[in-house]
Amino acid sequence: MAIKTIGVVGAGQMGGGIAQVAAGSGFEVIMSDIKDEFVERGKSAIAKSLDRFVKKGKLTQESRDETMGRITGTSDLSMMKNADFVVEAATENEGLKLGIFKQLDGLCGGDVILASNTSSISITRIAGATGRPRQVIGMHFMNPVPMMKLVEVIRGLETSDETYETVEKLAKDLGKTPVVANDFPGFISNRILMPMINEAIYTLFEGVGTPEAIDEIMKLGMNHPMGPLTLADLIGLDTCLAIMNVLYDGFGDPKYRPCPLLKKYVDAGFLGRKVGRGFYAYES
Ligand code: NAD
Repeated sequence: MAIKTIGVVGAGQMGGGIAQVAAGSGFEVIMSDIKDEFVERGKSAIAKSLDRFVKKGKLTQESRDETMGRITGTSDLSMMKNADFVVEAATENEGLKLGIFKQLDGLCGGDVILASNTSSISITRIAGATGRPRQVIGMHFMNPVPMMKLVEVIRGLETSDETYETVEKLAKDLGKTPVVANDFPGFISNRILMPMINEAIYTLFEGVGTPEAIDEIMKLGMNHPMGPLTLADLIGLDTCLAIMNVLYDGFGDPKYRPCPLLKKYVDAGFLGRKVGRGFYAYES
């Protein structure tokens, strides 16, 4: 089936980014969240991001307006019945995602592919919540979506070759580079990245260095474009903790134990840049 309309479930930083890139690539987009105010917040974040591209001369005002015009926001998940392809980018929580996929399976046409942008959760288990496991796949975009080239494509146990090939082509149509991974906790990207971030948080917790020193050492010494604590704040500390818990539970290995300081920050509502407070403070 030709894909003309892409459904995006979740209008947070990732859902908004995916909607922006899809609409900017000429697709019609239906973007949903649980409340109208979250949908509006997502749309205004997209508008701000596009405005920055216009200001830098990388986008015309006309293309910006056309892109915004292709995005329909809704708090009604049943609108996804009009999509030819759906990518879910809701909060990193297994129970939540299983519920969404079950609903999508009932709403969407039988030939529609259902993709998840999960950072770590089993695609095979998500697929098991549907009656179409051959058409369920992981499509893991990187943050910020408009800037980052990679899409990690994760095949569940039953994902068909046809589904994989459709997603590989779609990723390229969105201007991205797809790279395939098998379905293990955290896949490739977060199997490697998240323990490093967790270790950086332990380094802070044990008083080995200040946040600034930890980040500066990894930037200047290891040539990372951003320090691990700054990156954790960008990802969201709730998402980092959720991923560490998936690794810890999935492998049963104590080396993945989430740092107590990470838990404490999440308990305190210090979720990173998206709320203005994480390891660093941000202006809203
Ligand atoms: P976020 O907190 O910015 O946004 C999540 C959004 O999902 C919120 O707006 C929330 O209201 C919405 N939501 C919750 N339940 C919903 C439902 N039933 N239906 C529709 N929307 C619902 O989080 P995010 O950073 O955008 O992460 C979203 C997903 O993308 C997660 O699975 C995360 O692991 C993954 N991801 C995140 C990053 C990152 O750097 N933050 C990178 C790659 C992938």
